[in-house]
Amino acid sequence: MPTLDEFLEEATAFLAFNADPKGDGPFAWGDGSDSVAIFAHKTPEDERSEGAEAQAWRTTVFDAGFGWISGPAQYGGRELPSSYEQAWQALMGRYDVPSTMPFGIGLGMIAPTILAHGTDVAKQRYLRAMYRGDVIACQLFSEPGAGSDLASVQTRAERDGDEWIVTGQKVWTSGAQYADIGEIICRTDPDAPKHKGLTGFVIDMRAPGVEVRPLRQMTGGASFNEVFFTEVRVPDDHRLGGVNGGWTVALTTLMS
Ligand SMILES: Cc1cc2nc3c(=O)[nH]c(=O)nc-3n(C[C@H](O)[C@H](O)[C@H](O)COP(=O)(O)OP(=O)(O)OC[C@H]3O[C@@H](n4cnc5c(N)ncnc54)[C@H](O)[C@@H]3O)c2cc1C
Repeated sequence: MPTLDEFLEEATAFLAFNADPKGDGPFAWGDGSDSVAIFAHKTPEDERSEGAEAQAWRTTVFDAGFGWISGPAQYGGRELPSSYEQAWQALMGRYDVPSTMPFGIGLGMIAPTILAHGTDVAKQRYLRAMYRGDVIACQLFSEPGAGSDLASVQTRAERDGDEWIVTGQKVWTSGAQYADIGEIICRTDPDAPKHKGLTGFVIDMRAPGVEVRPLRQMTGGASFNEVFFTEVRVPDDHRLGGVNGGWTVALTTLMS
């Protein structure tokens, strides 16, 4: 294992070669953009080119060994202590690098959930790809009747042999318009107490029966979506955690 100093030397060499240092002129109130929007008004073309830039940057970072510094080696991580990850983030903050916002939900919330609760099939298929920027994930929790009261979700998943059939609607899904996969919480036992009848899955956003409809914001952009599921088939090896153990899975995501 490299020492922290050796690691930082390697990281500095990588950043010096691949990015420009941020200008370090003095901060002055009133300089810079007045935009305070969390979700900017972007055209689909802007979104595509920013997405491509973000993806290319994540791939470059991952292939150089900085994409998942503290993750397990078997899924593409480097198994270094989390202090190395923090040192990398602090160092990277001094350079002008592309925004990786499209990966925020996937790497911040969904990948840790797949690592904690996914089957080996899901871990092998998605973790490395997510950290490398090849797969973008969204979070499919909220519904028209289930916001703060998340355990009220009504989207159903019914077992059919080695598959589940998902039907229902989610809402406010950030980034669903460009996501490849989503973490979905579904009702699998309507007769159980509401927190005990839920199951989590990884769902393919391009599967037949998935329809993403943008929600236009009053600022003009459309970063959120409604997502409709009509008899979407999900293999059982894409289940997260136990059947009816979805509340624990949802908590892992939200705590991450
Ligand atoms: C920027 C942003 C991004 C988001 N992205 C996603 C996403 O990617 N995926 C996703 O699944 N969801 C997403 N959401 C949805 C978000 O998680 C929900 O908005 C949240 O769960 C709250 O639900 P709601 O909006 O339906 O509000 P409600 O639950 O309807 O709450 C409305 C109001 O009532 C209050 N309230 C609710 N219940 C009670 C109670 N029992 N007692 C007292 N007061 C109460 C609340 O505090 C709130 O003020 C996003 C939201 C935002 C703002």
